[in-house]
Amino acid sequence: MADSPVNDWIAAANDDPVLRSLRQCREQLWINPKRSAFERVKQQLPLSFSDIEDASARLERFAGYFSVAFPETAARDGIIESELVRVDKAAKLIAEFLHSDVPDNLLIKCDSHLPISGSIKARGGIYEVLLYAEQLALEHGLLQLGDDYSCFASEPFRQLFAQHSIAVGSTGNLGLSIGIISAKLGFKVTVHMSADAREWKKALLRSKGVNVVEHPSDYSVAVAQGRQEALNTPGCHFIDDEDSTSLFLGYSVAALRLKRQLAEQNIPVDAEHPLIVYLPCGVGGGPGGIAFGLKHVFGDAVHCFFAEPTHSPCMLLGMHSRLHNDISVQDIGLDNRTCADGLAVGRASAFVGQVMEPLLDGIYTLSDERMYALVTLLTDSEKLAVEPSATAGLPGFAWLMNSNQETLEVLGLASSLHNATHIAWATGGNMVPVDEMAKYYALGVEALKQFKF
Ligand SMILES: *Cc1c(COP(=O)(O)O)cnc(C)c1O
Repeated sequence: MADSPVNDWIAAANDDPVLRSLRQCREQLWINPKRSAFERVKQQLPLSFSDIEDASARLERFAGYFSVAFPETAARDGIIESELVRVDKAAKLIAEFLHSDVPDNLLIKCDSHLPISGSIKARGGIYEVLLYAEQLALEHGLLQLGDDYSCFASEPFRQLFAQHSIAVGSTGNLGLSIGIISAKLGFKVTVHMSADAREWKKALLRSKGVNVVEHPSDYSVAVAQGRQEALNTPGCHFIDDEDSTSLFLGYSVAALRLKRQLAEQNIPVDAEHPLIVYLPCGVGGGPGGIAFGLKHVFGDAVHCFFAEPTHSPCMLLGMHSRLHNDISVQDIGLDNRTCADGLAVGRASAFVGQVMEPLLDGIYTLSDERMYALVTLLTDSEKLAVEPSATAGLPGFAWLMNSNQETLEVLGLASSLHNATHIAWATGGNMVPVDEMAKYYALGVEALKQFKF
């Protein structure tokens, strides 16, 4: 094999226990050795708090449009937001399943039930389309910043957008969110789907007039081909999930909203009462954007962990090797096949891993069987139906509660873990057809038999 940074690292890491566990698809918790005090690193970050505020203000400007165009958002005055719910029954059942103590405060952030597209992608994906639409409308003199944005539902806007196109590559959920909002605004929109994308997602998009292109390959190839085709199409805006700061900022706004929800529920967040957030990670933009926002809002009182499938641990591999998007899970012999289609990503985002280097506490992995089992346990305990990907945040508390004192010292949680509020970010599920969900549940019943529980 030719010399390359990837081969060099793999050769040098031969005895590395983290790499060994990755290769064996063993579930593990990786602690990020580069995590730093937030105040020390804040100035060096490529994006700042004012960027988050700018994104938040843009979403507020569009609230008038959403109330009109998507009546399901009217209850929140056109703000796309999800509930934050305490799940005491799930805490008990999942703790038993994972052989851990029961956490006092386990909450689920229900992005699985976000309006419009039923996944976390209703944050970043929709945001980037709005940013583009706003720029076009300003450039063409149809809009002034102070206007009532319900005008985006009017004919002159639709005519303008009909002359422009949007393209995206996706494992499914990003395509759903971009497709739905783009088609509603009147854009021509093409979604490049990877082989693991579900049939129902393609059918739903086609029913809305979206051009769906199927690729017999994985996510990275679908994105690359979509990017190439978009480059060859004049007037086409490509939404680049592997390298987009606007997607990232769209996600980050969740932190401002979460701050308000925690305050409304009288949940303290400070050094004695840490907030620990567990985020399912695919390419990294969603969890990265949210974690980035949370660090700006709560500083060192918040601890963020990503969760990845054992077959697609691209962020763990990229951050641990420090090769980021130069290395893929296929490079270490993994197949990138997982039931967690939202997380079936073999190569991490070009920039998220580097931004997260000083901010992230760690990453853990979990098996497909674990995710199926959690789908079933969450349904049984809370009647909350989510897709397998969206359960990945649930085992996070148990990794910490089962950690030794030394690990907790490193994380600064040794004396405060018992006061922590744990939030598992549920990232998708509401649009999954009931018969598909029933299949996940049945697979979970089977999977549960494999575990000592
Ligand atoms: C996209 C997605 C994620 C992760 O977001 P990334 O930006 O790809 O890291 C997690 N869960 C679900 C259900 C998703 O669709």
